[in-house]
Amino acid sequence: MESDSKNKGEQGIRLYNTQSRKIDQIIPEHGKKIRIFVCGPTVYDYIHIGNARTFVFFDSLVRYLRSSGYLVFYLQNITDVDDKIINKAREEKKDVMDVSSFYLSEFIRDMNSLRVESVNLYARTSLFIGEIIEQIERLIKSGHAYVSDDGVYFSVSSFPDYGKLSGQKIDNLIAGARVTADRRKKNPEDFVLWKFRKTGEPFWWSPWGEGRPGWHIEDTAITEFFFGKSYDVHGGGIDLLFPHHESENAQMRSISGMDYLAKYWIHVGMLSMGEGKMSKSVGNIIKVRDILSEFSAEDIRFFLLNSGYRNTIEFSMKALRESSVTRKRIQNLYDILTREHENSGLILEGNEETERIWKELEDDFDTRSFFRDLLAYVSRIFKDMENLGKDELGAALYMLTLTDSVFCILKGREASSDISDFINSMIELRNQMRKVGKFDVSDMIRKALEDAGVVVEDSKGETKWRMS
Ligand code: AMP
Repeated sequence: MESDSKNKGEQGIRLYNTQSRKIDQIIPEHGKKIRIFVCGPTVYDYIHIGNARTFVFFDSLVRYLRSSGYLVFYLQNITDVDDKIINKAREEKKDVMDVSSFYLSEFIRDMNSLRVESVNLYARTSLFIGEIIEQIERLIKSGHAYVSDDGVYFSVSSFPDYGKLSGQKIDNLIAGARVTADRRKKNPEDFVLWKFRKTGEPFWWSPWGEGRPGWHIEDTAITEFFFGKSYDVHGGGIDLLFPHHESENAQMRSISGMDYLAKYWIHVGMLSMGEGKMSKSVGNIIKVRDILSEFSAEDIRFFLLNSGYRNTIEFSMKALRESSVTRKRIQNLYDILTREHENSGLILEGNEETERIWKELEDDFDTRSFFRDLLAYVSRIFKDMENLGKDELGAALYMLTLTDSVFCILKGREASSDISDFINSMIELRNQMRKVGKFDVSDMIRKALEDAGVVVEDSKGETKWRMS
């Protein structure tokens, strides 16, 4: 029977595994080494806060696993060859690789701004074309793929487990695929591994003709190159479960003959806004860099992490504002305790209470319960502060420091006088100068801000700013 109920009795870290449909204890293939692969972005635009949810979640999970004594190698791909990038390049009359290189570096900037620092390696698809071709060759040789008029296709009927990972019935898939039946495929549910060259598209040589890879093959080529035929954790947003992850699983297991590609498949719920899932193609997006001009990385991370990772998060500015007020309570206690520690030397050691709260995370990385209990603990420490000794206050500082090392939700002492407060006051001053007609002074302020990397934009009577 399917179950995702909590297994409080079990020891060690447990996570919900989409493959087994239950919360499994994490037992890596090789001792304390965990190899984790997460689907990265398609680089044709700036990333939005929905993408950020997935990346911030895995950043925290990896930090947590590392802090629990695992040696984690965290690999992420970058899709830099894709229809969407080609379309964007056409729109902007630019070279496809220039477009993807630009958005890749902007993606890295956004990751740095959000303090996502745990990824060991980002692998660009275009650098693995040789490995992709080699994998397709093996699939053709073993009868799992065939060459057609417009490309090379994976034959879904050659892999009897197709549909099992995502819990789809193969008959439904076939019925669905028939709607968009394509004469060039042997069967409507087959998917493309290699697309033959079309005018104006990037292409590479292959034994079957010039062209470019399909979407699913890039990930298995990259993971096989770094990890081999199987590895420990495959992650991504739940939107990728079908067809992307299902197809990756089919490709690699057809080659390896193994029971699994990744031992654990971890999926993050969607962040939605208004019309549903936040998505570039729907257009209901808020870019990470826009939100960062109003909220700190710590506020954004806390908002994204303070809920069950498998649940949908409904995004609104109101919810983010409220969450930022809640985070401030933890920050305030941290600032007070840090000062206290500097002045009188607290004893930084956990106690039974902090250990109990920390242990919540072992159970499917339950950040919702964890932060609920942490906030109750923070309130209690505030209430009793006068009566608590160095050991209890030290345990609280220890707990907050540990929390920050995994979630990055606290600003350090130097940064705690928020730079955005300072910039806002400069903008305020500039606006006052403009109101009284002192445009030479307001221009000087704007120039000083710009020299410091702050872009100031006036529109519809409002002034906004962002870091350049
Ligand atoms: P994409 O660039 O659309 O391929 O997405 C990059 C990553 O962000 C993938 O792991 C997606 O699953 C994830 N993602 C995309 N949209 C959302 C969303 N609205 N909420 C959470 N994760 C998302």
